[in-house]
Amino acid sequence: NKYVTIKRFIDGLPSGLDFELRSAPLTPATPQGSEDVIVKNLFVSIDPYQINRMKEYSSSQETVEVARRLLPGQRIDAFGVGRVVASGNAEFKRDELVAGMLGWEEYTVVRPGVMLTKIDSNLDFPLSYHLGILGPSGLTAYAGFYDVCKPKKGEKVLVSAACGSVGHLVGQFAKLSGCYVVGCAGSKKKVELLKEKLGFDDAFNYKEETDVKSALKRYFPDGIDIYFDNVGAEMQEAAVANMNAFGRVAVCGAISRYTDAGKRAAPDMIDVIYKRITIRGFLAYDHLSIYDDFISATSDHIRHGRMQSLEDISQGLESVPSAFAGLFRGDNVGKKLVQLAHI
Ligand code: NDP
Repeated sequence: NKYVTIKRFIDGLPSGLDFELRSAPLTPATPQGSEDVIVKNLFVSIDPYQINRMKEYSSSQETVEVARRLLPGQRIDAFGVGRVVASGNAEFKRDELVAGMLGWEEYTVVRPGVMLTKIDSNLDFPLSYHLGILGPSGLTAYAGFYDVCKPKKGEKVLVSAACGSVGHLVGQFAKLSGCYVVGCAGSKKKVELLKEKLGFDDAFNYKEETDVKSALKRYFPDGIDIYFDNVGAEMQEAAVANMNAFGRVAVCGAISRYTDAGKRAAPDMIDVIYKRITIRGFLAYDHLSIYDDFISATSDHIRHGRMQSLEDISQGLESVPSAFAGLFRGDNVGKKLVQLAHI
């Protein structure tokens, strides 16, 4: 079984050279292997949070089940979709398609209790959607926007990393809720996509702005009501400075800090107090109670052409390291995936 691992702990920006491909026989996860499910991985998800597991000193995220620290040489668990090739678990049969915690590897031995679900054969969508728009990214966007931001029609919404996996879905949910939406992203191509293909009211390239605070004043002359924060640092500070009374900030991610420990957001607390702003972090997996609503609403939007999924798919296990490093350079447009095999 070929798998991707880190060669050493990563400090700062990752590069393809921090990783290597190794090979090892499949080992049973349970003592006799009698309840294991062996999955041939078809698509694996490439997610920014993985970098926080690859540092020598990781933060409090160690306490979060999906973000346990990795050691050089270890296999790397990651969301994926695949096909069952052998099963000792009565719930899963050979050849069934499944989604869950698999790994950056050809095959994963899934032990009982690890998140694994059958893909609903009534949902006639591309398999890759179960990692993006109908998977963890979609749930993050849906839960963060509806449960945390609690939008009202006509409110003004800013989304950062807006052309990324979570961001492009948040903007579309916001438009469907009757909000005014501006996205910020790191290239001209992304800005055009947001405005021309995804229906954002406006978008800008934050790399071309010397002062993001005054840029936000231009894009939101009447202030911001909701900021869906994927990046942290200066953009969060600027959003809070431009926020209306009772504004909400959903802190989804802080990618600028994942590779640069100095990038801390320090929004002005006087603004927070007098404008009664709520700044709330969240994790998608605390919102599983709305999972069924999320799947039914989102699949309906896709079927009726009201939502689009942007995907960016590389081919082959050997492309995982560069696909991952590319997240931190802004190479990806939409959900970054690697396809390892065909059904
Ligand atoms: P994306 O698809 O958005 O990929 C990351 C994007 O972030 C890049 O394409 C790049 O776009 C942008 N970026 C990279 N480095 C920087 C930087 N230094 N400053 C500003 N932008 C940067 O990833 P996801 O949609 O999967 O994740 C988005 C965020 O949400 C991440 O922070 C992630 O950790 C978080 N997340 C949180 C979850 C939760 O439960 N709370 C669940 C899933 C994700 P650009 O070209 O615009 O710079």
